[in-house]
Amino acid sequence: MKLKEGLVEEIASIVGRENCSTRVADLYTYGFDSSIHHHSPDVVVRPSSAEEVSRLMKLASREGIPVVPRGGGTGLCGAAVPIKGGMVMDLTRMNRIKEIRVNDLYCVAEAGVVYDRLNEALSPNKFFFPPTPGSGEACTIGGMVATNASGMRAVKYGATRDYVLGLEVVLADGSIIHVGTNTIKNSSGYQLERLFVGSEGTLGIITEVTLKIAPKPKKSAMVLAAFDRLEDAGKCVSNLISVPLIPSATELMDDICIRAVNKAVQAGLPDVQAICMIEVDGEPEIVAKELKVVESIARQSGASSVQVSDDSKQMAKWTSARKSVMSALSRLGDQLVSVSLADDMAVPISKIPDAVVAFHRIAEENQVIVGTYGHAADGNLHTKMLLDPCSEDSWRRGERAVGQIFDAVISLGGTVTGEHGVGISKAPYMMKERPDAWRTMMAIKKALDPQDILNPGKLMQWEGGIIRDLRYPCRDLR
Ligand SMILES: Cc1cc2nc3c(=O)[nH]c(=O)nc-3n(C[C@H](O)[C@H](O)[C@H](O)COP(=O)(O)OP(=O)(O)OC[C@H]3O[C@@H](n4cnc5c(N)ncnc54)[C@H](O)[C@@H]3O)c2cc1C
Repeated sequence: MKLKEGLVEEIASIVGRENCSTRVADLYTYGFDSSIHHHSPDVVVRPSSAEEVSRLMKLASREGIPVVPRGGGTGLCGAAVPIKGGMVMDLTRMNRIKEIRVNDLYCVAEAGVVYDRLNEALSPNKFFFPPTPGSGEACTIGGMVATNASGMRAVKYGATRDYVLGLEVVLADGSIIHVGTNTIKNSSGYQLERLFVGSEGTLGIITEVTLKIAPKPKKSAMVLAAFDRLEDAGKCVSNLISVPLIPSATELMDDICIRAVNKAVQAGLPDVQAICMIEVDGEPEIVAKELKVVESIARQSGASSVQVSDDSKQMAKWTSARKSVMSALSRLGDQLVSVSLADDMAVPISKIPDAVVAFHRIAEENQVIVGTYGHAADGNLHTKMLLDPCSEDSWRRGERAVGQIFDAVISLGGTVTGEHGVGISKAPYMMKERPDAWRTMMAIKKALDPQDILNPGKLMQWEGGIIRDLRYPCRDLR
């Protein structure tokens, strides 16, 4: 869209000239997040307060300009890509941690605070905000709330939604509202703070977050179990849960991911069909007891080798190998890049073996390479597809495999996204997963954003397939 004359000057008068840009390089750059999609905005703004956000929203609603809030831009499904142009609102200048109240079990942070920075500030108090996304060094608290982010520790500690006590939000018409409380309990009417969790910028701009915090565990230790059959790794996870034993993390990697990280970062992981990295944490004596149980369950489930460590250097090495999967996969084949397609499904924990077997079958049938890994103890599996970005045929085979993977996930009683959100890349499949609920979502969207200016065209509003507005040489394969 073309902005009306004089509008950029009016925007600059709200945020300052240096925080408003229409430079081609900035527009191009802010057209990306970490997904496969790209579309440039018309203007980029960087407000520093809720009041500035409110004035910008009043202007946007007066002029009917689309607005896409943006945190760290680490989203993997195009949620922060301004698909209809308009204004990208970068919230990263709003990066103040306003309060840490350990005796009240909460902290207050502006939306643009980076996850790792918040935990660095909480650490001297022996507390933390647990979700642990793999992107913690770059993603923001606002982006985490907007996508209900979580990570490897969700099985024990939950997701972002479990920590949101209250929010300050700027609505589409520019009004500033406060939802939730700063108390641990609250039954005071509709739980509106929950409504904005997972809303992906379509209902309001989150400017401040009140988060519950948790005490840091005293000790942690890890088991690395190697399996000659992928199904056995999946079974190990559900056997562990049914002991019952809730690990603090359980990371599964298949042979493709193992090969990729061993090649890219010389991780030295066992050359097998699958590995499980299982972490337990808590009081030292409980950790020691649980480690023995994990080791024994891994062996009973068919592990061909089991390594145990409470050495922080060794554990960091294993964790870093797991964290490098996404980038390592891109270096596995010469012509191939790793793309976030069907990358984040979740199934009931006991269905993990069925899911991983189905993914491998679908990959073979469609002649695509699919690496599978994930936070298996909460049923959350990630796949990354390796495609030739210059080949339409490669994209088409990928698209067919994505549809089949999501059909398998839905038939196993799962969801198309456990933590990354919907954005563009998963929109058609969310509609399939939620054939009745999306109408209610649409009604809420209409009530809060009648002009449809907040991140329009996403979630249930996305039309058509997913291999559109690509960042790659094949730009548009409608
Ligand atoms: C290497 C890597 C590893 C990752 N690992 C994980 C993981 O383990 N777990 C996980 O959950 N995700 C993971 N992700 C995905 C991503 O980091 C999360 O979705 C994260 O929460 C996005 O935060 P962000 O600040 O980067 O948001 P962005 O990408 O900037 O935005 C994401 C969405 O939130 C909206 N939004 C952002 N800020 C606001 C705001 N203040 N108000 C309203 N809406 C807003 C945007 O409009 C968009 O719809 C990973 C990504 C990468 C690149």
